[in-house]
Amino acid sequence: MKSKTHYVVLLLIMVGMLAGGVCGWAFGPKMMGVKFLGDIFLNALKMMIVPLVVASMITGVASLGDIRRLGRTGLVTIAYYGITTGVAVGIGIVLANVIQPGAGFTPVVTELPEMVGKETYTVVDVIVNMIPSNFFEAAVETNVLPLIIVSLVFGGILTTLGKKGEPVIKFFAGLNAAILKLVYLVMMFAPVGVFALVATKLGAAGGGEAFWQELWKLGKYAFTVLSGLTLHAFIVLPLLLMLLGRRNPLKYIFNMLAAFATSFSTASSAATLPVTMRAVEKRNKVSEEAASFVLPLGATINMDGTALYEAIAAIFIAQMYGIDLSPAHQLVIFFTATLAAVGAAAIPEAGLVTMVMVLTSVGLPVEGIGSILAIDWFLDRCRTTVNVWGDSVGAAAVDRLVIRAKTESETRLSEAPG
Ligand code: ASP
Repeated sequence: MKSKTHYVVLLLIMVGMLAGGVCGWAFGPKMMGVKFLGDIFLNALKMMIVPLVVASMITGVASLGDIRRLGRTGLVTIAYYGITTGVAVGIGIVLANVIQPGAGFTPVVTELPEMVGKETYTVVDVIVNMIPSNFFEAAVETNVLPLIIVSLVFGGILTTLGKKGEPVIKFFAGLNAAILKLVYLVMMFAPVGVFALVATKLGAAGGGEAFWQELWKLGKYAFTVLSGLTLHAFIVLPLLLMLLGRRNPLKYIFNMLAAFATSFSTASSAATLPVTMRAVEKRNKVSEEAASFVLPLGATINMDGTALYEAIAAIFIAQMYGIDLSPAHQLVIFFTATLAAVGAAAIPEAGLVTMVMVLTSVGLPVEGIGSILAIDWFLDRCRTTVNVWGDSVGAAAVDRLVIRAKTESETRLSEAPG
């Protein structure tokens, strides 16, 4: 995007988000009239997910070239994801124990939404679901993880085919570039889309007064989750960005603002992916090799905000029911919350579904979820934004640790005398 246009659109997106909040607050359910505008924006973003994931993963893997480089990139990426998610869960567990949000809270009895509890997730399910029995079915359902696995293997195979593989790689590289251009067009509509999404969500929740009441009721719980997210987003991740990525966090965050507005208004890392990729590659100048590999994978399995929230919610539910959690139980929560975040789909409120796994692993009542439902739509938007931020920092870290390090050492070698 030409710089000037970019800033104007960014400003309009921020104004749209603010105006959406104010209108949703003031006019409540009446704002449902503009819902279709949000749907148009959301559809446009969702439409790009499958081709973008497939094309960018294949291009990313193919551009890494030799398989050893893929191995190193993969290892650094997974290590980064594992460590940051672990830190996020750790922050959640410490805060929930210190603040004790559930102490003295009476459980709210509500019917759980259909999606919660229907599917019982085990670790084995998460792994089995990675291999699709039908590629197109996975695509139709936007089931991203299996698509990533297949594209990864497919891209790797293409690099071993020599001349025969080249046109196929070029095709996917072209597709990838075209979709990123398409994001540019869709973002022109983002100010209106973001406005409508925020206004209708707040409006559907009953407007400002109802929102305030919900927040007040669940104040201590929401405060704990928001404090954890703030610590992780403003201290842990910027530190990693400076140390591992050698980037200026303020500049990097500024360049990500359009993606953050999209994640906050859509509550979906997957729907935000096209915008994240564009911001990381085009604005923050992270190499295509790193961005196209790290970001689709990150949107699907790296969810720092979700992991942090899963841990706090589980401990909150235990405290609310007066159930004592031993250190061993908390350790189980540590691991299951991490896995629950990996297994959660990158769609709105998916964290609620995998929460069942965390609760049942330590024998906590699943009905406890009923008590946190009222405010979940709001916390979901905040944690999704932290999820996207975590992926973006990961792209910068992998870019510097693997891609640039390798290129620099290659240049040094080729420049060495003799
Ligand atoms: N909505 C989140 C995301 O897309 C997942 C969740 O925590 O519910 O990243």
